[in-house]
Amino acid sequence: MPKILVIEDEGVLREEIVAWLHLEGYEAFGAADGVEGVAAAFKLRPDLIICDITMPRLDGYGVLLELHSNPATATVPFIFMTARVAHDDMRHGMSLGADDYVTKPFSLVDLLQTVESRLQRKRMQEQMYQQEIEQLQKAINEEHEQRAFKAKLVAMFSHDFRNPLSSIMSSNSLLRDYYDRMDKTSRDEHFSYIDSSVRQLIQMLDDMLLVGQMDSGNLTLKSEILNVGVFFQGVVDEFRVLYRKSHEIQFECPDSLVAVGDSRLLRQIASNLISNAVKYSPQGGEIAVTVERGDSVYSLSVADQGIGIPDEELSQLFEAFRRASNVGKVRGTGLGLAIVRQAADLHEGKVEIESQLGTGTCVCVTLPTCPGNSDAEVRKVMEESGAL
Ligand code: ATP
Ligand code: MG
Repeated sequence: MPKILVIEDEGVLREEIVAWLHLEGYEAFGAADGVEGVAAAFKLRPDLIICDITMPRLDGYGVLLELHSNPATATVPFIFMTARVAHDDMRHGMSLGADDYVTKPFSLVDLLQTVESRLQRKRMQEQMYQQEIEQLQKAINEEHEQRAFKAKLVAMFSHDFRNPLSSIMSSNSLLRDYYDRMDKTSRDEHFSYIDSSVRQLIQMLDDMLLVGQMDSGNLTLKSEILNVGVFFQGVVDEFRVLYRKSHEIQFECPDSLVAVGDSRLLRQIASNLISNAVKYSPQGGEIAVTVERGDSVYSLSVADQGIGIPDEELSQLFEAFRRASNVGKVRGTGLGLAIVRQAADLHEGKVEIESQLGTGTCVCVTLPTCPGNSDAEVRKVMEESGAL
């Protein structure tokens, strides 16, 4: 219930106004002069003040000045009551910052209209302030989250960079010091450790750059026309070389499938999914990478026979740094699927996961053959070639 303070030295009028306001459902209080009025305003913190101008001890202007000089009462809507003859009084009052005035004698309707319109304006202002505060709060929270995110990213990468670096250093020292005493198989093994560690480092750097760009909203689609089969075959082949001893990676794709996409992002999608399939499935496991053609879309799915993902954790794994509870000692930053989701979003595509604990996981990314936000020139070439 809004609180209204009536400052008026004429007792009968004051009580009449207070009684009117009570009847209209306001909580109303009276003060018999300016000094009493200022004290009551500080004590009661009203939502609105109605104040006479001519009063003993402190007049209405004095009350207004005192209330405006205090932050606690400066924004309370202030309505002057003035005699019809005293137009200059009213002007002076408004120039001091009063919000409105009513001329005596006034009817109940006049007074209520003025009070209600001022209260409504106050409510709207409060709502606006509230919205501004919420927006500011949101911006502050986002800023905090971003800072925390970046700090986590830096900590994670500085930590994870050490492993491949030490692996490169130790293989390199072994090759340098014992090259002649090693047989070809162990030399090759160390060369491929170095190879895979360097790739890991490159992948981490790429991830970090990409996540940084995604986080700051600076990542846009650089579309080009791709032969989907040739493109994904290339990515699969890189993994086949790296994991030839531990996993069998099968690849199937319809011939002559052409699509528009950002090759850097598509590579990230494929390599993150294949790398997960390798990481989270046992040695000797089979991995099936399949591309299928749909109606103006195509899908890339990567299926493994690995550890699977607990049902209740599936939906959270697209958030950065999220990892399932069953990863055991397998290392990871928890960024791969977040990157996959964002890269698919940028292509206006979608990602779905099906998984069964202890049996395997299949992640399927469906992408439009030509995303709507592709470069105009690239779209034109696709249209002219009849691919669209
Ligand atoms: P990285 O950033 O190095 O890829 P990560 O593999 O832990 O680290 P994501 O690729 O984002 O991170 O995967 C998130 C989590 O989802 C993994 O930690 C794992 O728990 C689960 N996950 C993803 N793919 C599979 C899969 N094929 N089989 C089982 N669990 C998986
Ligand atoms: Mg991963």
